[in-house]
Amino acid sequence: MAWFKKSERGLKTPAKRAVPDGLWMRCEFCQEILYRKELERDFWICDRCGFHFRISSAEYVRILLDEGSFSEIDEDLEPLDPLRFKDSKRYPDRLKKYQEQTGLKEAIRTGTGTVERIPIVFAVLEFSFGGGSLGSVMGEKIVRAADLSLATRRPLVILSCSGGARMQEGILSLMQLAKTSVAIGKLAEQAIPFLSIVTHPTTGGVSASFAMQGDLILAEPRALIGFAGPRVIQQTIGQDLPEGFQRSEFLLDHGMVDLIVSRRDLKSLLARVLRYFPYPESPRREEGAAGETERR
Ligand SMILES: [Zn+2]
Repeated sequence: MAWFKKSERGLKTPAKRAVPDGLWMRCEFCQEILYRKELERDFWICDRCGFHFRISSAEYVRILLDEGSFSEIDEDLEPLDPLRFKDSKRYPDRLKKYQEQTGLKEAIRTGTGTVERIPIVFAVLEFSFGGGSLGSVMGEKIVRAADLSLATRRPLVILSCSGGARMQEGILSLMQLAKTSVAIGKLAEQAIPFLSIVTHPTTGGVSASFAMQGDLILAEPRALIGFAGPRVIQQTIGQDLPEGFQRSEFLLDHGMVDLIVSRRDLKSLLARVLRYFPYPESPRREEGAAGETERR
């Protein structure tokens, strides 16, 4: 059959990008045709339905953190191939391609920074690196970020965007669910805030571990959030799923997320929330304490 031979004839589909080139773009949610320049100006939000297009980890750093405040850590940690995994391609070859496309060694950036001058430890997943999948190195980087939070008592903020566990690392990838959960648990014991921001899409092993363990879980509008995809669930239970199933709004109605926040307001809301938590590095608390001493 002809269509099986496409690859042999050298017809290659172009590599998927987080935001494709072109003057006009179609909204994935409401199918509206949108002018790219305008989208770019408005944080990549569809002005008809409010759907938030996927953006890169670098863009989130720029949107959420104070300019020039981000200091990356562990940027040289990179995955190995302990299982010598091969499907249609060798795992190391896939990694090399992702690394060239994104300029990252793994599908996550971690580091320290400030949000309206409030110091935090920040981790942000990169979807265009293998679907933001959770492998051993992402797990390790999250644990190290959480450890840094513990050591410095800065709140931890993780922004997730992921298709789930990294299949090419098999069981080692699944073990990261437990590993990251333990690290997040330690923060809870020490009353250090952990805020999780979930974006489109956050599914599989990431939604089954740290992304849904935040003291507060913020979601971007219309994001797909869930463990298995709607089609798999529909086929398994043999029933139609309710309207809007697994989207942020549905999860909010069912108590799985705490707030839905537009990307336009994400930074100011994050800062507002962080100010509610008393912790040693909080500028508000330091200023307040100094003020009280002076008054005495
Ligand atoms: Zn739309």
